[in-house]
Amino acid sequence: MEKILELKSIEASYGGIQALKGISLHVDKGEIVTLIGSNGAGKSTTLKSISGQVPVKNGSIFYKGNTITNIAAHKTAVLGISQVPEGRRIFPKLSVKENLLVGAFSVKDKHLIETRMKKVFEYFPRLHERVEQKGGTMSGGEQQMLAIGRALMMQPEVLMLDEPSMGLAPIIVEQIFEIIKELNREGMTILLVEQNAFQALQIANRGYVIQTGQIVLEGTGEELITNKQVQEAYLA
Ligand code: ATP
Repeated sequence: MEKILELKSIEASYGGIQALKGISLHVDKGEIVTLIGSNGAGKSTTLKSISGQVPVKNGSIFYKGNTITNIAAHKTAVLGISQVPEGRRIFPKLSVKENLLVGAFSVKDKHLIETRMKKVFEYFPRLHERVEQKGGTMSGGEQQMLAIGRALMMQPEVLMLDEPSMGLAPIIVEQIFEIIKELNREGMTILLVEQNAFQALQIANRGYVIQTGQIVLEGTGEELITNKQVQEAYLA
């Protein structure tokens, strides 16, 4: 298996608070890997360290064998790693179409942009119906679709999603997870951070449990879902 992403003993801090205390993990090409753990465990910070939004103090990050440690955030997107941020962060005053165009910030070829937008609309017909609507007036689920669509405009090899299910009704969460599975079936590698551990582990090939900035458990989705510790702490 080709390691598409590899983190070796990553440490990161916010001021005096050490959020990551030596995280090592890898994601193979074509996998869905999930990071689970409680609030404040360091899941988001792990994603942000990969995408260049949080400085890495110690350790290294490799993408397809090359170091990308502390690379600028816009460069990771160009290299093929897109992130769907926690809380979606769509641009509320911009239309659906404009939000998607922002996602394709580095793409100059208009035809390519159009082709990618069409593809996004195939995944999310709802976005097509609302193409001129302002992002801020859409429902939580639609905004999540838009946030994913925006990330897809870079046609990433690796898609990182930070709590896509947050605040959404179960039926919408179901739809979002279906799309994640479909993207993966079509070859996209997925790194998924979720509070909703049960659903995340159900679709994941492998997972890591993060606790106060450290990985305390790893295994296949099935191993973790049947693990007593995981069940008691995260699936109760
Ligand atoms: P959540 O689900 O709440 O986002 P998480 O597992 O993603 O949890 P992180 O957001 O990575 O956790 O936070 C890890 C630690 O870093 C926590 O102690 C948190 O309080 C701290 N932290 C996160 N962001 C900041 C920030 N911008 N400034 C200061 N401390 C932060």
